[in-house]
Amino acid sequence: MTTRVSDGEAAADRNRRAQRGLTRLLVRDVRGLRRLIIPSRLQESVPQWMHAVRALVDQYGAASAALGADYYEAERLAARVTGRFTVPLAPPPPVEQVTASLRWAVKDVWERDPGDPATTPAQREPLTVRLEQAEKKTEAVAQKLVADQGRDTVREAVRQDRLATAWARSAALAACAFCKMLATRGAVYKQDTADFQSHDGCHCGVVPVFRGQRFELSDHAREWERLYREFAAPHSGDQLRRFRRALADHGHLPVL
Ligand SMILES: [Zn+2]
Repeated sequence: MTTRVSDGEAAADRNRRAQRGLTRLLVRDVRGLRRLIIPSRLQESVPQWMHAVRALVDQYGAASAALGADYYEAERLAARVTGRFTVPLAPPPPVEQVTASLRWAVKDVWERDPGDPATTPAQREPLTVRLEQAEKKTEAVAQKLVADQGRDTVREAVRQDRLATAWARSAALAACAFCKMLATRGAVYKQDTADFQSHDGCHCGVVPVFRGQRFELSDHAREWERLYREFAAPHSGDQLRRFRRALADHGHLPVL
């Protein structure tokens, strides 16, 4: 018997919230490391701080992957799929990737020559402001690195599990226009090569679809889809902006 599965079902929502809760704790811990940065000794203390942040990303990333695996297993059971399958946990992102993200986050912290025309306005701010900005960026990149590990776990399980057929994006009602646009695409079949596009601060989830299940957009995603088709799709090159406006005009928050 064919059962239905949707991006808006309760389990998808719970999974997204669990991942969101996890990254909230991550951000709290990242903030706690701020004291490792000693303003008078930036050159020595920033690398030490980066090292500590990397350790947190590893630790929380593993927890995110485990949450993703639990969710996948529960969904598989709910779909009454028989046969054993062990969910492989997504590995941590390569050290170089984490380091590059953190280097980007702190790039404006370093002391620059104010007379140098290459010095940006952000780099001319007082050190306290620069540190504040670096902290915010770090929280954002860490969140993405960790949440991606949970999402990758579900997507990789779909790819390897012979009884899984597709995955779909589940976006929260408060998600940005970009994520809502991608969520309206519905089921992405495992033979498709489409990647999961996420951004800093993205809390979207991946919903697995199993053999015998038919994917259907939730009512809210269907409404986003209608708005996209009507107000954005015909305007090639300007679709995201048009879609964002259509969402705002029709009371879909946030207006981002
Ligand atoms: Zn998102």
